Amino acid sequence: MIEFQDVHKAYAVNGQSITALQPTSLQVQPGEIFGLIGHSGAGKSTLLRLINRLEEPSGGRIIVDGIDVTALDAQGLRRFRQRVGMIFQHFNLLSSKTVANNVAMPLKLAGELSGVQIKQRVTELLSRVGLSEHANKYPAQLSGGQKQRVGIARALATDPKILLCDEATSALDPQTTAQVLQLLVEINRELGLTIVLITHEMDVIRRVCDRVGVMDAGVIVESGQVSDVFLHP
Ligand code: ADP
Ligand code: ADP
Repeated sequence: MIEFQDVHKAYAVNGQSITALQPTSLQVQPGEIFGLIGHSGAGKSTLLRLINRLEEPSGGRIIVDGIDVTALDAQGLRRFRQRVGMIFQHFNLLSSKTVANNVAMPLKLAGELSGVQIKQRVTELLSRVGLSEHANKYPAQLSGGQKQRVGIARALATDPKILLCDEATSALDPQTTAQVLQLLVEINRELGLTIVLITHEMDVIRRVCDRVGVMDAGVIVESGQVSDVFLHP
């Protein structure tokens, strides 16, 4: 589903080159939940953001669902991103828009559905994430867990095949974290979405991931089944 072939990434900072990802090859299988764990600065976020080309690779090829992401032009990239949802640590909701309008946003941008169809789809998405009662509230009126549910509904709006989660539970308390992780597992099982998540918490990996990559200093130092990589609970 996702394949990295010798992908590397360096950022230019004040004329200096900072390597965030050493040449990396990686495969994520369709329908799996793949976790990336490592300390701050290890390169997790860079790797994740290369998948939907929020970062441009410095070299190598990235193939997602048969598409060479590295070769897409602007229009191709826009269409491709509808197939890849993303959620964030701080939710990234628009504070001036209601819950329903936040979720409707990607559908409006895609410009493929009528107003009636968008409304129907938003209703369905809010029901899936358990927020039907909150459609007309603003983000500031919601708890952290509810905000992340809005983020998830928005990420699912265009019916993506892949969901990228960037520290999606790091701002949440343990109980809310468990609920959001449960929702991600449901989405994985029921919709068949492939999920790549990054976290610095071992517990998140143990609870939901099928396979894991451990990152350090721009390198995946170890990867495999979660039960093999972390032998002891
Ligand atoms: P992680 O997600 O594991 O914390 P990142 O991918 O954010 O790691 O960062 C990896 C390295 O790349 C770090 O040294 C970080 O400072 C650097 N880096 C990340 N993003 C940028 C950027 N936009 N510009 C310059 N350096 C960056
Ligand atoms: P804007 O303020 O950007 O003009 P609208 O208020 O017209 O936005 O609504 C934007 C979209 O969000 C519409 O397409 C509508 O279908 C959807 N929407 C708004 N409120 C709800 C709701 N309570 N339930 C479901 N969908 C809604």
